[in-house]
Amino acid sequence: MKKHNFSAGPAILPADVFSQAAEAVQDLNGIGLSVLEISHRSPEFVAVLEEAVALPKELLQIPDTHEVLYLTGGASSQFFMTAMNLLPHHGKAAYLDTGSWSTKAIKEAKLFGAVEVLASSKDKNYAYIPKDYTVPLDATYLHYTSNNTIFGTQYQQLPAADIPLVCDMSSDIFSRPIDVSRFAVIYAGAQKNLGPAGTTLVIVNKDLLGKVEREIPTMLDYRTHIKKNSSFNTPPVFPIYVSMLTLRWIKEQGGLAEMAQNNEAKAKLVYDAIDRNPLFQGTAAREDRSRMNATFVANDPEVETAFLQACQEANIAGIKGHRSIGGFRASIYNAMPTESIEVLVELMDHFAQKHG
Ligand code: PMP
Repeated sequence: MKKHNFSAGPAILPADVFSQAAEAVQDLNGIGLSVLEISHRSPEFVAVLEEAVALPKELLQIPDTHEVLYLTGGASSQFFMTAMNLLPHHGKAAYLDTGSWSTKAIKEAKLFGAVEVLASSKDKNYAYIPKDYTVPLDATYLHYTSNNTIFGTQYQQLPAADIPLVCDMSSDIFSRPIDVSRFAVIYAGAQKNLGPAGTTLVIVNKDLLGKVEREIPTMLDYRTHIKKNSSFNTPPVFPIYVSMLTLRWIKEQGGLAEMAQNNEAKAKLVYDAIDRNPLFQGTAAREDRSRMNATFVANDPEVETAFLQACQEANIAGIKGHRSIGGFRASIYNAMPTESIEVLVELMDHFAQKHG
C-alpha cells in the first residue's frame, strides 16, 4: 500500500509522474527503447531536454536575459559555482544566513572573495527570517535561501535589494510565481519539487557572466553549459526526463499561481492543526512559516515517541524532524495531495485529544 510520504527530500512526486516514468524506463514513447539506454544526443532525448528547458521558461516567465540549465553535483556544488562565476577576486558578496544550507554557501563563497554576512537568525536556532539589514551597494550580489528545509522558515517576499539576487530555491522552486528578472542565479536540487536526485536546475543571467578574471575549470563555468545546452558532458538523462514530466504536470494543474494557492491551503491545514492542539508547538516564527516544510515539536519526549509510532501505524512516512531541531517535519511539496494532509491532521487531532 502506498504510504503518505512527508519526506523532506528525495520527496513525493505526482502519482502520474511515477507511472509515466516507470513506463519510459521500459519503453520511451513506444520507440522500443528505454529512456535509460538512448543516446543523450538522440532526437528523442534532445526533445526531452528542450521541453525541460522550455517549461520553466513558460511557467516562471523567464526573460531572454536568462538561461535554464540542468547541471550535476547537487545544489551543494552551486554554493561554490555561483561565487566562482560571479564574484571578482577583489569583490564582495552579501549573504543572509538562515540555516545550515546558507552557512554552507557562505563557507564556499569565502574561497573566492570577500563575504559580508548581513544578518543571521542563528541566535534563535534559525526559527525566523531576519529582516533588519542594509544591503551594501558595492556587493556583486545578495545570496539567500528562499526556503529553509530543515528549520521550516521561508521568505514570503524577495529581500529588498538594489543589487542582483542569488538564491538557493532547492525546496520551494515552482511552488509559487517569482520575478526572475531580479536574479543573477537561481538554483535548485531537483529532489523536492521537481524530480529524482541527480540534477540541479540553474537559471542564470547571461549578462552577468564573464566578469571575473580567474580561470574557471570548463565543467564549472556556466558559459560552457549555456553554449552546449546542458550537454557538454552526458547529462543526467533520467532525472531530467522525470523533471520534465513534473513540469508538464505543474502546467496541467494550472501553473504556478495555482500551485501557490494550493500550497497556501495545504500549509494552513497543517499549521491550524499545530495551533489548535496545545500538545504540539510550531518551531518557526508565524510570519515566516514555510509552505513547504512545517516543523513542530510535542511538549514531551514520550509524547513524541508515541506520535511517531502512531504515524507509522497510520501509514505516514518521513515525518521525523531533522536532528538539529528534533520533533516533526511535514514536508508538503507541490505533489503532496490534500488527502494525505487530512490523514495527518486527523491523526494529530485524535492524538492530542487522547494525550492532551
Ligand atoms: N539547499 C537546500 C535548501 C536544501 O534543502 C538542500 C538539501 N537537498 C541542499 C541545498 C543540498 O542539496 P544537494 O543535496 O542537492 O546538494
